[in-house]
Amino acid sequence: MRIDQAVKKGKGTLSFEIFPPKGDFHIDEVRALLSALSPLRPAFISVTYSAGGSKNNRLTEEIASLAQEENHIPSACHITVINSTKEEVESTIDSFHARGIENVLALRGDRIEGVDACGYTHATDIIPTLVERGFAVGASCYPEGHPASPSPDEDFKYMKMKEDLGASLFISQLCFDNRRFFEFFRGAAKAGITSPISAGIMPIMSKAQVNRMIYMCAVSLPGEIIRILNRYEEDKEGLLQAGLDYAARQIAELYDAGADDIHFYTMNRAEAAEGLVARLTAMGYLKNA
Ligand code: FAD
Repeated sequence: MRIDQAVKKGKGTLSFEIFPPKGDFHIDEVRALLSALSPLRPAFISVTYSAGGSKNNRLTEEIASLAQEENHIPSACHITVINSTKEEVESTIDSFHARGIENVLALRGDRIEGVDACGYTHATDIIPTLVERGFAVGASCYPEGHPASPSPDEDFKYMKMKEDLGASLFISQLCFDNRRFFEFFRGAAKAGITSPISAGIMPIMSKAQVNRMIYMCAVSLPGEIIRILNRYEEDKEGLLQAGLDYAARQIAELYDAGADDIHFYTMNRAEAAEGLVARLTAMGYLKNA
């Protein structure tokens, strides 16, 4: 199923991001993760691609295909372009097509230090090809701005360009602060963007993880998150539960405001997704479970 059919304006669905496990692993580990996520009935699952230059990208399509074929979950493959040649990108697109992948999240990717771009330089470069090949195309967006962006207007300009080129769904960078989300939704509407926006929410796993994310993704930390991190510094389980409570409150407020979809970064932790869905269901919010 196409992700732009699974997610609609104001429908209030929930979707998940997973990543190909790092290092040696057996595909049955991924099967176990998908089997745990499947009963939570996500609107779709997206699978990351070579994040951080880890070169585990061939597994992206294998995992997305498993989710689609065995678990009947609509799935999207991420693709990044900046660290590959045009031929490599095109061969990956051919491979997605051959496997019956229907949805692709088109991304530039992060530059690997010392490696010059040798092909495409922006997500906008590949959206037309993906649309032509029949994929439903998603693209990224940044509620607090892309770290390299000079201004929100510049980001909205390119977001609109992505939509005009054929992207029919946006998935946002993680954001802990709903005020930033609401400001961003207003800005996107003002820029004429009409495609659904899936709001990225990340569970808190550790102080180190949050520190890494705020630096890498240039996102701000509300005082409440800092208090949770300090309070549960020595208590991993307590931190996960308090983080999920925070995420559920944040999502409830977004649904109340008419959010299209929430994209939950599962970090491949089924128990985090289960804990979140249990909370949202108890609060009477989940419409796609
Ligand atoms: P772009 O859309 O190209 O934007 C990057 C910057 O360039 C922005 O400042 C933008 O305003 C500007 N810009 C955009 N288009 C143009 C243009 N045509 N001309 C000039 N300037 C332009 N990384 C991975 O390695 N693997 C993943 O699987 C992955 N998944 C992600 C999923 C989501 C939802 C998000 C938000 C990010 C993900 N990333 C992933 C990280 C992403 O690769 C980085 O944030 C990267 O720095 C930017 O990619 P982009 O597609 O957003 O870039």
